[in-house]
Amino acid sequence: MFNKLLVILIFNTSVYGNDIWGKNGHRAIGEIATQNLTQQTLKVVNKILDGQSLALVSTWADEMKSNSEFGKYSSWHYVNIPLDKEYKQIEKNPKGDIIQAINKCIEVLEDKNSPKIAKSFHLKYLVHLVGDAHQPLHTGRYEDKGGNDIKLKFFGRPTNLHKVWDSDMIDDYKMSYTELAESLTMLQQTSKSLNPEDWVFESHQEVKKIYSEVKDGDYISYDYINKNFSLIELKLYKAGIRLATILNEIL
Ligand SMILES: [Zn+2]
Repeated sequence: MFNKLLVILIFNTSVYGNDIWGKNGHRAIGEIATQNLTQQTLKVVNKILDGQSLALVSTWADEMKSNSEFGKYSSWHYVNIPLDKEYKQIEKNPKGDIIQAINKCIEVLEDKNSPKIAKSFHLKYLVHLVGDAHQPLHTGRYEDKGGNDIKLKFFGRPTNLHKVWDSDMIDDYKMSYTELAESLTMLQQTSKSLNPEDWVFESHQEVKKIYSEVKDGDYISYDYINKNFSLIELKLYKAGIRLATILNEIL
């Protein structure tokens, strides 16, 4: 019993801790996706989720991280790629990574024979993981745990690079998720790629620049936010549109 508990505890220690696109980021993505679903898809989504919205379920995968039974899914939230490599070139994590996980979710949802409980589980993960794949630091280096080990000060408050991109800048914006989603609809979305490898490639290009512009101990404030917030907005919007496009296609 003790050994089993220990194993669970060890595997439950995610590389990323609990720092993910803040709740508002994930919810805004769910909201944008919902606004872009067809009537038919919306009906199927409502059925699978028993009427819960995509925005509401978008943070469930993070909330379940403290449940030991979900430890085996912790590697689903990211993929570590060295800055001089691409996903194709790296050894794949046998426990799964964000690309494998998204493909798995799509596979289960597409399968007409999947039971409702499996569809619900994988839809909740899909909503969340499409978001995570668009947060550049979720494709960051293994050595610094995707920026978690790069300690920064955000207006004097201790934080880290991963968290600045997950939630600090979004929270500082002080908008509800619906306001945030609404504020993003004027952005132009051109790429409709539905391949999670393309999304990760895009995030990985961005993370190289993000890494190059800070160093451990830096003080982050308005200058940094002003320079970077438009990328966060664009990524939230892209994630929402891409999620909707996938769901319209497979459900
Ligand atoms: Zn996550």
